[in-house]
Amino acid sequence: MTISNQVCEEEYKFAKAEAHFAAAIDNSSDGLITIDQAGNIFLFNATAEKLFGYSASEATKINFKELTPELFKGFHNGHIKNIWDSQQKIKIGSTIEVEAFHKNKTTFPALLKFSEFWIEKERHFSVTVKNISEKKLTEAHKFHEIAFDHVKEGILVIDLEGKISLINSIGASLLGYTAEELKGKSFYSTIYHLKTITNRFTGKDNIVLETIKDGIEKTVNDQIFLNKYGSFISVDFKLSPVVSDNKNLGVVIAFKNNELLVGSSLRTRVFFEMSKIISQSLSWENTINQTLQMIGKNLQWELANYWEIDSQKTTLKCLEQWKAPYLKSEAISNFQKISRNKTFAKLEGLPGEVWDKGQPVWISDILNRQNFPREPFAIKAGLHSGFGSPVYEGDQIIGVFEFFTSTPQEHLDANQVSLLVGLGGQLGQFKKRMESETDLIVAKEQAIKADNYKSEFLSQMSHELRTPLNAIIGFSQILMQSKRPVLDKKHVSDVSLILESGKHLLRLINEILDLSKIESGKMEVSIEPINLNKLLTETMAFIRPMAQKANITLIDFMSGSEEITILADEFRLRQVILNLIANGVKYNKSGGSVTLNHEILNNHYVRINVQDTGYGIPEGFQNKIFNPFERGGAEFSQIEGTGIGLSVTKKLVELMRGKISFNSVENKGSCFYFDMPLAASSKQDINTPHPSIKESKTKQVGNKINIDILYIEDNVRNLELVKRIIEEQKGMKLVSAEDGISGLETAKKNLPDLILLDIHLPKMNGFEVFLQLKEIESTKNIPIIAVSANARDEDIKKASEMGFVDYLTKPLSVNALVEVLNKYKA
Ligand code: ADP
Repeated sequence: MTISNQVCEEEYKFAKAEAHFAAAIDNSSDGLITIDQAGNIFLFNATAEKLFGYSASEATKINFKELTPELFKGFHNGHIKNIWDSQQKIKIGSTIEVEAFHKNKTTFPALLKFSEFWIEKERHFSVTVKNISEKKLTEAHKFHEIAFDHVKEGILVIDLEGKISLINSIGASLLGYTAEELKGKSFYSTIYHLKTITNRFTGKDNIVLETIKDGIEKTVNDQIFLNKYGSFISVDFKLSPVVSDNKNLGVVIAFKNNELLVGSSLRTRVFFEMSKIISQSLSWENTINQTLQMIGKNLQWELANYWEIDSQKTTLKCLEQWKAPYLKSEAISNFQKISRNKTFAKLEGLPGEVWDKGQPVWISDILNRQNFPREPFAIKAGLHSGFGSPVYEGDQIIGVFEFFTSTPQEHLDANQVSLLVGLGGQLGQFKKRMESETDLIVAKEQAIKADNYKSEFLSQMSHELRTPLNAIIGFSQILMQSKRPVLDKKHVSDVSLILESGKHLLRLINEILDLSKIESGKMEVSIEPINLNKLLTETMAFIRPMAQKANITLIDFMSGSEEITILADEFRLRQVILNLIANGVKYNKSGGSVTLNHEILNNHYVRINVQDTGYGIPEGFQNKIFNPFERGGAEFSQIEGTGIGLSVTKKLVELMRGKISFNSVENKGSCFYFDMPLAASSKQDINTPHPSIKESKTKQVGNKINIDILYIEDNVRNLELVKRIIEEQKGMKLVSAEDGISGLETAKKNLPDLILLDIHLPKMNGFEVFLQLKEIESTKNIPIIAVSANARDEDIKKASEMGFVDYLTKPLSVNALVEVLNKYKA
């Protein structure tokens, strides 16, 4: 290669590099300018040309100062060197934001970045220029948006087509929407709903269109906007036309809710009265009636109807009406009557229209109104203007208020509309609450019913179980007590087992029945003064055989002590003491003891202690001991029990106004104690027997050596049992009948001295037989004893009230029966 060739090659390479450099510079997205210290421009790339409007050659003729005059402010000779040296404004490598000047004298925000380079000791600068107007614009826009949303008023921008192009968040939330939901929606049909009504009253054109046309700013008060939920808000607003380059772009509306400002005292009063009506409500109808009256009086309506949508949602029916007391004409009564008798379908008449629209409907003059079927009656009654407003339960319309007045009304006060819509909402909520309360009451009634069924079932069950038990216990008793020995020793022990099992089963049934009675609140106690010493001695005597069998000594500190009278139900108190002593015996070790003593507490109560030397109660079980069916491990032992006794005992003590508790140490023993109120009575009180049905009725029976007894009973085994018992007695004769009708016949024919009457008889029950016997002259004075498996207090009470002289419960106790029969024989 020759030297010249070599040079050529070098030059070519250089030219190529230069071309690359120039292209790179021109294609840069930033403007690139190089200057010397005096601000003379050397390089001005294509982007810089676009940014500043100068061509590169034009730029070399101007000074950099002309492009960014702001940068040179405060530097007297405008020499760029001074700026560098001052180090105040620009530093190499850092950026600075300035207002840059375009050739056409407009400005744009620019970001400059300087770097320096040297040509033969002379300092030069390269400057990159970025147009940041877009970024600035976004920032400004954001700021406006924030400001827009921070205004306290609602701001709506409406375009020429009446569409909402912008709404701030305050405005949207005042109307119940989000801004997004409203964008693009028609202002007239979405918000400015009462436009047509306004027109009817004012005769004016739509105010928004008017503003667009005349370009004049307007202030409007007391207008109505419709919110998302179909109710109205009363607003004041200002309309301003938006004009740019002499062109109408739309209207800006700034609005605020004036509800709290205008008519607030009336509003408060009405809402206060409404709350009062609701709180004193007797029924839905009553609430509606009072509401109609209250609205009529406060808002000066003269006649009102409330229409309720039926459950099939097909018609509206008039539920309540009201009229001002001074409206007495027949025509008014006729209008009320026609309303009362009419039903409206959706869309039909004023109520139907409100139902369909879900919004209030205003009639300025009924006379010119189409779709008002009651027009002739309304006109005759002198009614002019009317108004219907919906009642909402949640988002469902449930009814329509309707108001009329005889004074023609041009305008409907916007506040009234919102007030009535508000009241409608309040009523709807009340209805909902009322319904859920009714549901609760129904549920409660059902629960009570179910509970009654349960009690009924238990009592029925106990009846069913008692009847066979009657035979088991009764016959085994007869076998055991028979004066003619019929059984050998072995059989005697077998029968005694049957008897014991029968008694155990009976105890169980009684306990379950007691528990169910207590739980359903049906347990009744009859409190009277009782000689405690006597009762305790008797109870101890009763339980002694059981104690002896278990090798437990019963120690009674009560007998012989001063007599104590307490207030209690004798039968139930005996049950309590029996249960406690029986437990003391049951949960005891052979050779142990149960001690009974008492102490007087503060002159008002006596404490009865039942102390045993038994197993004691483990600590972990002590807090469960009074819970039904809890046996604390005893269920795995040989000791008989159900776990019900103590829970019934506790409830009984409490029913008798006493208190029960215990303390116990494992393996040492337990002491159960209960406090009963002392009677402030004398000894005489207790010794004088209380008149009971037994004593009072026995007087009717004469002294007889022999008595004839009629037993009306359908159960053969029961009949057989009683027959056998009577056979064993002297001076008693028994005839029987198996149902009520033959019983009546036998009674009339035989005229017995005493009748035993089963209550559960087929076809005609014992009570009916009783009433008929009392109707017949010849039988009406025969004493009648009820025999029933129903051991409930109310059954016994009912029998006593009817006039039965006694009440024997099944299973019949041989002794009890004999005792009662002897009473009538003596
Ligand atoms: P039951 O005796 O039929 O099991 P109770 O309700 O009378 O039912 O008693 C519940 C449980 O309390 C018994 O199973 C027993 O574990 C315990 N208990 C009751 N009384 C005593 C007592 N005096 N000593 C020890 N444990 C007792």
